[in-house]
Formats: sequence, C-alpha cells, structure tokens
Amino acid sequence: MQADDSFPALVAHVRALYGEGFIPLHRPVFEGNERRYLVDCIDSNFVSSVGAKVAEFEQQVAAFTGAKYAIATVNGTAALHVALQLARVQRGDEVISQALTFVATCNALRYAGADAVFIDVDLDTLGLSPLALRRWLSANAEVREGRAFNRTTGRRIAACVPMHTFGFPLRIAEVVAVCDEYGIPVVEDAAESLGSYVGGRHTGTFGKLATLSFNGNKTITTGGGGMIVTDDEVLARRAKHITTTAKIPHPYEFVHDEVGYNYRLPNLNAALGCAQMERLPEMLAAKAEVARRYAGFFEASGVRFVQPIEGATANRWLNAIVLHDQAQRDALLEYTNAQGVMTRPIWRLMSRLDMFKHCQHDGLENSQWLEARVVNLPSSVPDGAMRKFQG
Ligand SMILES: *Cc1c(COP(=O)(O)O)cnc(C)c1O
Repeated sequence: MQADDSFPALVAHVRALYGEGFIPLHRPVFEGNERRYLVDCIDSNFVSSVGAKVAEFEQQVAAFTGAKYAIATVNGTAALHVALQLARVQRGDEVISQALTFVATCNALRYAGADAVFIDVDLDTLGLSPLALRRWLSANAEVREGRAFNRTTGRRIAACVPMHTFGFPLRIAEVVAVCDEYGIPVVEDAAESLGSYVGGRHTGTFGKLATLSFNGNKTITTGGGGMIVTDDEVLARRAKHITTTAKIPHPYEFVHDEVGYNYRLPNLNAALGCAQMERLPEMLAAKAEVARRYAGFFEASGVRFVQPIEGATANRWLNAIVLHDQAQRDALLEYTNAQGVMTRPIWRLMSRLDMFKHCQHDGLENSQWLEARVVNLPSSVPDGAMRKFQG
C-alpha cells in the first residue's frame, strides 16, 4: 500500500465486513440478556449502589481473568486512581509509565499526586519495553532499604504502570521481573486487554494490582465502569472499602473511618456487565475472525498489521496498522474518514501534552516513531457475527 490508490481497496474491505453507511471504530453489541437484567433492576428498585448484580459481575470478571478478587468501580480511571493508592503511591512520588497511552493513565497518576516518568515502548508490542525500563533504572535509580529512589531528583519511584496497548500484551513478565529487582510494585493498566493472555495467563494478573475499563468503546461495556483485580486479599478488602465511602458495616449507623471515595459501580451498570460477560467468549471469537480478515488483506500490502508477539493472545479490541510515514498516515486518515469509515491515529504522546511535558523521559524513540505511523481500523463485532458462534 504505497500510494493513495490502494485506499479504496481498504475501504471496500472494511465495508465487506461492516456494510454501508458510517462505520464507527468500535461500537458495543447487546445481543444477550442486557435488556432482561436491566428490567430486573428497575422492577426490583435496585438501580444504584446496592444490589446483587455488582457482586455477580465482580465474580464473573474474577473467574474469567483468574484473578482471586475483582472490585467494581465507576470507571477505569477511578480504578487506577485507587489501585495506585493501594500500591502506596503518595504525593511527590514518581511513577513509571508509557508516553504512548490514553490520557486516563497519566491523569490517574496525577490524582494520586505522582509525576510520571515516561519510558519507551517496544515496536512489536506497542507496550512498555523491559529493556528500556532496565536501561533507565540502572542509569537513574538506586535501592535503599528495599525501595527505589531516583538518584537525580531524590524522589521515590513508587510504582510502574505498564499498559497493554489496544489489547496487545506487552512483555509483562519481563517488566515485573525488572521491577521486582528494584522493589517497584507493578499496577497493570489492563483497560484495553480483557481477553488478552500471555502464555495462557490473563493480562492484569502479573502485577500486584491491575485495572480494567468497561467504557462504551471497550471490548465489553457497562455504559461506564471499571474494575480493580488482585490476588491480595488485604488489598482487595481495602479496595472495596475506600471505593465505597469507607463505611463501617452497621445495621443502621453511618460511621466512616477515613476519607473514602464514591467510586461505586451502580447496580444498573453491573447488570449490563453481567450480560456482556456471558457473551464475551463469542465476542472474542468474532473479533479474532475480523483480525484474520484484516491480516489477510494486509499480507501482500507492505503495510504492517500489528499482531501479538509469540506466546501472546490479543483480544483484538482495536486492530492497528503501521504506515510507512506520517504523510501516508495522514492521507489514509483523511481518505477513510471522508468515506465514512472511522479510523484514528494513535494518541498524541503524553510527553507532548501541556500537563505532562515537564515529566522525565528516556528519549522515547520508538514511541515517537509509532506516534507518527499507527492507525486504528474499525474493529467492532460485525452484525450477526456472534449468532454464528451460538451453540
Ligand atoms: C479506557 C482507558 C482507561 C480508563 O477508562 P475509563 O473507564 O474511560 O475511565 C485507562 N487507560 C487506558 C489505556 C484506557 O484505554
């Protein structure tokens, strides 16, 4: 796909998958028990912060991911804010993350009072590079009494937040191994990677904690919602406590033992989540088929279609291609969007946004290269695709 004259073939390929009219990047599908569970909530009056659906949804997500505990929150950003606090990130700390991520990752760091340190990503995974991480830490960090400090700023390096971009697993085991050497807890931002695995193990179960998102554009949706997952019982209990106003259980008294948050997921949203979780395997199968079709299309094109690395399985939340240069990227974005086929560039690097441009970084060579070239393609479950997988 050298010249603009190959773009019509791509648009035709997308239309063969999704039909005529405007084609969004990602839209939700409600082909299961969504309506029924929502009506149940309304009929029972349990629409808000009390109700059985929240616990049910938490159990479904824990069972699916293999995490011991799952704690629902009002959205993924809130989940990350709390997870960072549970990892003991405090005001004035530094937290390692990616410049190549959605802004919510870095906003949550700021809510926790920390400043980001941006480390480069790998070109193949689009996620935090364990090599770049090791290089930066050995040049900049020292361990005192089991905790990592930045030698230049004197500040504590309190956590590391890698993010599985578009659902493509990063080299998470290697990242955790490097962080372990420095006593740095890992909080995985798995907002985009529900249904993505490394060696059969679900993303988000490698770090001390991880967070998921169920926003409207994610693999499954609760309208808005998030989840903290962890294997640590004490952290799980604390997560539930501080996301639900830190109320001490009592039959009728209102007693709260610290400043908590109202980060509860309403029962209505959880009901949607329960129905979505029931269909997740079919959705993933349909998304895998979409990815196979794109892979076939791009095979002979000279354009790289992003694939998971050896040993990893991607949920195919958003399919992505890497164009030759920014000019070709811009031409493709211009053409496809004018044709009613929604495509989007990868995010502007966090290190270039006003509120984060003072943050330290390692040069971000790969991040900048990808920033200029990566485009997401329409990736929804096509109409009717799931019926094929019904038993
Ligand atoms: C969607 C997303 C979030 C946060 O999700 P919300 O539920 O929208 O708050 C965090 N990080 C990444 C990388 C995301 O894509």
